[in-house]
Amino acid sequence: MAERLFEELIAETKRLFQEKYGTEPKILVAAPGRVNLIGEHTDYNGGFVFPMGIERWTVIAATPTGAEKATIWTNNSGAQYFPRVGAEFAVSGEILPADKVEWTSYVQGAIACSIEKGAKVGGFNAVINSNVPLGGGLSSSASLEVAVATLMEELSGHKFGATEKPLLCQKAEHVFAKMACGIMDQFVCSLAQKDCAMLLDCRSQEFEAVPMTDPAVSALIANSNVKHALSGSEYPERRASCEKVAKLLGRELLREVSMDELIASKDKILAEEGGERLFKRARHAIGEDVRTLKAKDALVAGDWTTFGELMYASHASLRDDYEVSCPEIDALVEIAREIGEAGGVYGSRITGGGFGGCTVSLVRTDKAESVAERLGSEYAKRVGKEATIFVTRPTQGARVL
Ligand code: ADP
Ligand code: MG
Repeated sequence: MAERLFEELIAETKRLFQEKYGTEPKILVAAPGRVNLIGEHTDYNGGFVFPMGIERWTVIAATPTGAEKATIWTNNSGAQYFPRVGAEFAVSGEILPADKVEWTSYVQGAIACSIEKGAKVGGFNAVINSNVPLGGGLSSSASLEVAVATLMEELSGHKFGATEKPLLCQKAEHVFAKMACGIMDQFVCSLAQKDCAMLLDCRSQEFEAVPMTDPAVSALIANSNVKHALSGSEYPERRASCEKVAKLLGRELLREVSMDELIASKDKILAEEGGERLFKRARHAIGEDVRTLKAKDALVAGDWTTFGELMYASHASLRDDYEVSCPEIDALVEIAREIGEAGGVYGSRITGGGFGGCTVSLVRTDKAESVAERLGSEYAKRVGKEATIFVTRPTQGARVL
């Protein structure tokens, strides 16, 4: 199924390139989107995340031209009315970020940061074609940056070091897309392995491919198609709360604080202004690290029941302590729990930053279709909205075709 989807995407990208430029592309690259199985809001605390590559990709077809600039088209820029657009991109000289962040920012950023790391190129023609949903929390942005950086490697003949590519893509997102993201997305879109989840230590940047080879289990991703408007203070407050508790306990990062230590320091934290809230934020971040490491052990043991329980516990913590869920997402998790193991669901949780977006569930592959049906119809009944649902096995990071 996924193989066919991939083949079709490649064929369509070649066709688009042919349509635009009248020739066959010389280079084809692809990078997947990603989903985080567990380990949410742990990255900026220096903790652990446990994502995997998903069977949705950004594909780029390209040919060098010798021109001064690159001409790049995309099938989906995210713009509402004219999503299929093209633009010119600088490939030499001083490349500065534009004031306004648009789709071009991600592309120009990945080009500029690749050049800075030694991938010198001339002009080229390219077409971007992606089936990663944009803005849905499955990291279409990192997938795009990593695909561009992989293209830059191919065009220049300069190979980046293993972690150099994700780090330069993260810089592109920071500087050109003005988004202060962590390292998870770019690491998994670059370095994920097929049939493996990736345990990533966000403090040391060390990562490990943890086999998830059993084809009987899959990840089911349900997009709530809800995105709640934020005031802008939600994420900064949570980050600041985590930092404050760490500091209060004499550490740089919450990662360095154990749950026992947190509980022993409860009175001290409660004495602070907004202490109750500070304590809850820290309890999530610290507890989530513990759950993530336990989830890794459960995956190694093939203990899907335990893995699923950890996902539900992660969700409850994000809902109650970190307060980043919303009624629509809670409904998806609730329905998944009602379907239960007998119906093919081991566990389910919110994934991504929160306040909407997607849930990820661990499901039995042979029951995935019926789970998707029940989840979709119950969600429509309870929430009055359509969810977009698909099933995926862990896929490989960036590749050249
Ligand atoms: P997410 O990474 O969760 O999908 P972001 O808001 O971080 O959401 O990134 C989405 C943005 O990335 C889009 O609005 C668009 O600017 C850019 N983008 C992603 N994929 C593409 C693509 N295939 N073509 C052009 N721009 C893209
Ligand atoms: Mg993104």
